[in-house]
Amino acid sequence: MSRRIDIKAGEYLFREGDPPTSAYLIESGQVEISTLQNGQPLLLSVLGEGDLLGEMAVIDQSPRTADARARTDVALIEVDQAQISERISNADPIVRALLRGQLFRYRNALAQLRSGTSSESAVAFPAGQSHVDADGYDNSAVAKIWLETQLRDALTNGELDVRFQPIYEISKRHIAGYEALVRWTHPQRGPISPMEFIALAEETSLILPVGEYVLDRVAGAIARIMQSGDTSAPFIAVNMSGRQLAEADMLAAINQAADKHGIDRRQIKVEVTESLTLDYERVGELIERCHATGIKVALDDFGTGYSNLGHLHKLKFNTVKLDQGFVRQMLDAPRSLAIVKAIIEMVRALEADLVAEGVETEAQLAALGELNCRYAQGYLIGKPQSLDEVMERRRG
Ligand code: C2E
Ligand code: CA
Ligand code: CA
Repeated sequence: MSRRIDIKAGEYLFREGDPPTSAYLIESGQVEISTLQNGQPLLLSVLGEGDLLGEMAVIDQSPRTADARARTDVALIEVDQAQISERISNADPIVRALLRGQLFRYRNALAQLRSGTSSESAVAFPAGQSHVDADGYDNSAVAKIWLETQLRDALTNGELDVRFQPIYEISKRHIAGYEALVRWTHPQRGPISPMEFIALAEETSLILPVGEYVLDRVAGAIARIMQSGDTSAPFIAVNMSGRQLAEADMLAAINQAADKHGIDRRQIKVEVTESLTLDYERVGELIERCHATGIKVALDDFGTGYSNLGHLHKLKFNTVKLDQGFVRQMLDAPRSLAIVKAIIEMVRALEADLVAEGVETEAQLAALGELNCRYAQGYLIGKPQSLDEVMERRRG
């Protein structure tokens, strides 16, 4: 239960230098916030009904930096320290870093105001040596903002690269399609893994333009393959993250890219990875809409973290991609092989195709062929390649 406090006009709620106990919400009345400038009282603000006060000292556990005095009779609701710190610790690390920066600037400004000095004497923002400092603030959040800014530039300057990894149809012994995998070569840091920057883009809406960028490259690649007189019409699968599925109209984006490059949109496939935050209802709708227009949808990384048979039964995926982990262990233990066998059977019963990922040896490929697995993908067949390399291999 939150505590109600009444104070009379003229009384102090707290004084400069007091320890930070709680913050307060003003239910009625007015509170003056003031400090001393060169020994003279200086009114900073007057707060009224619905305003929050005293939260800053609570946020960074510092002594009060001003006096709070009731201008009229005031009714307050006490906001417990734990209530605030819980919200802060649950907040996005970038939001925490921003808050910390703002508080720091505010305290600096206040100190200058009090002493009447200029900004030149301001203390510099403490640069983080370690990731998490003594207050538990994550300085790497600032590094993230930096990286995010550069990713935005990379996107506008076309510095992201899309590679294509072949997907092999085992019984027909040919390359049936590709998976598009995005790459970022950072001017200073060198190549950055999509594992890192896709996760970063996913934290912000940057994932949406990254997705459109990849789709544009993919549709362009299909156009170039088709213009070369290639009649086998390979597909290219595009990875879609949860946020892209939730926030972007994927189908509209696919159609736009396909129209721009004059290709058949059915040559684009969509790969979806399960995650705790995936909106399954949304994915279900998307699959239905994709099917209505002939676009196939694959369930990626099946067998890892969040895979759930319940979803597999409800969502009509055309393809299931068996995670690399299974293929890697498949020939090491009879039990692993039994699991792969059972998954292949199950996927067939669902009338979906199976792609085994991470195929690195001839023995794995042979075993998958014997089990009637339809597709294989992995370094044995080919690493992710540039479009030029793809064109060369298709000609050869
Ligand atoms: P994923 O979709 O599971 O992609 C397969 C990853 O396995 C790729 O890593 C690929 O290079 C790697 N791989 C392929 N064959 C082998 C093999 O035989 N052995 C081994 N050890 N690895 C193999 P990559 O390119 O680093 O991509 C990592 C993840 O980043 C992808 O996992 C995907 O989740 C995400 N990603 C990549 N491009 C995009 C994109 O355009 N959009 C979105 N949303 N996510 C992307
Ligand atoms: Ca994938
Ligand atoms: Ca995968």
